[in-house]
Amino acid sequence: MLQRPIYLDCQATTPMDKRVLEAMLPYFTEHFGNASSITHIYGWEAEAAIKKARAILADAINATPEEIIFTSGATEANNLALKGVAEAYFSKGRHIITVSTEHHAVLDPCKYLESLGFEVTYLPVTGDGLINLVQLEKAIRSDTILVSVMTANNEIGVIQPIAEIGKICHAHQVLFHTDAAQALGKIPLDVKSQNIDIMSMTAHKVYGPKGIGALYVRRRNPRVRLASQIQGGGQEKGLRSGTLFTPQIVGLAKAVEIGLEQMPSETGRLRMLRDRLWQQISQLEGIHLNGHADQRLAGNLNISVEGVDGNALLLGMQSTVAVSSGSACSSSSTAPSHVLSALGHEKSLAYASLRFGIGRFNTLEEIDKVAITTRKTIESLRQALIKV
Ligand SMILES: *Cc1c(COP(=O)(O)O)cnc(C)c1O
Repeated sequence: MLQRPIYLDCQATTPMDKRVLEAMLPYFTEHFGNASSITHIYGWEAEAAIKKARAILADAINATPEEIIFTSGATEANNLALKGVAEAYFSKGRHIITVSTEHHAVLDPCKYLESLGFEVTYLPVTGDGLINLVQLEKAIRSDTILVSVMTANNEIGVIQPIAEIGKICHAHQVLFHTDAAQALGKIPLDVKSQNIDIMSMTAHKVYGPKGIGALYVRRRNPRVRLASQIQGGGQEKGLRSGTLFTPQIVGLAKAVEIGLEQMPSETGRLRMLRDRLWQQISQLEGIHLNGHADQRLAGNLNISVEGVDGNALLLGMQSTVAVSSGSACSSSSTAPSHVLSALGHEKSLAYASLRFGIGRFNTLEEIDKVAITTRKTIESLRQALIKV
C-alpha cells in the first residue's frame, strides 16, 4: 500500500490520543444511559461520568463546574456566546468589538448581528498579528456590551495578550469573550487571573474527539447572562438543550487532562521541532515567517514563499506531507486568507503560503523529511520558472 503523507495540519484537527478513545469506549455500549434519566442506574452512571468530566474541565481553566456548558464544539460555543450576549444585553447597548483575524465562527455571527442592527468594530492587527491594546481601549464605548478576541489564532498561531485584554474590559465593565479553541490544553488558561468572562473550547484540536466542546460562562463578578440559542429539554441550565453526549464529554475531559499533564514537556518538544523546520526551510531565499516569532503556539509555523505558485507548491508536496495553504480557498483561488491579508504584508498576494501544524505524534525524522521535501519543491518550482 502507498504510504500516507505525514500529517502536519494540527491547526485543522488532531489525531485522537488512544488514551482518550479508551476512556470513551465504555460509554458507547456498556454505560449508554441518558444523564437525564433519574430513575435508574443507567442514567446515574452517565450523570456521574459527566459530573466528573465537568469538574476536570472546570479545574483545568480555574472555573467552577456550574460555569461549564457543553456544546457541539467551538463553533456552537462562539455562536452561543455572541448571540447569547447580544440578545441578553441589547437594552444596555448594541456595540461589539472583535478583531479582523478571528475565526469565521466569530466573524460570521458578528455579521449576522450587524444585520439585526448591532454595530461591530473590527480591530486591525499589527504586522505580527497582535492587536494594539491602546486601540482596543479607545474602541470601547458606553454602549459596548462585548469584546471578543481569540486566544490563539488558527492560521498563524499568534497568542493575544489575553490577561491584559481582560483587565481593560473589566476596567470598563464590558464582558470579555475569548475563542480558546486552539489554546485549550496547549497553553495555560485561567479564567480568574486572565479576567475572562466567556470562553469557547473544543476537543478535536487537542487530541480529543470531534463534535464536542464547551462554553465557560462566568457566574460571579460579573454574573454573565446569556439567551439560549437551542431550546428543548432544558439541559445545561436551559442554555443548551439536547441529550448530553456522554462518550464525547468523557473524551473532552480526558484530552484536556492529558494536555495539561504533558504541557510543559510537549510545548518544549513542539517548539524544538518547529524551530528546526523553520531553520531548514528559511535557509532558502525569499521565505517569510507570518505572525509573531515567539508569541505563538509552539507547533505552528506559517510561511510565505516568494516566486512560486501556491497551488503548484501544495501539489508538489501533497504526496509527502499533509499541510494547509494560507489561501482563502486552496483549490480555486490563491488569494491570501483574511488572516494573512490582515497582516498587511506588501505583495502578499504574490506569495504562496503554507501552514504547518506540528503535533504530539510527529517525530524528528518526519520533520526533517518535510523540511527536505519543502525545500526541494520550492527549489524545483523556482528552477522551472527560470527556465521558461
Ligand atoms: C477549530 C476552530 C473553531 C471551530 O471549532 P469546532 O469545534 O470545529 O466547531 C473555532 N475557532 C477556532 C480558533 C478554531 O481553531
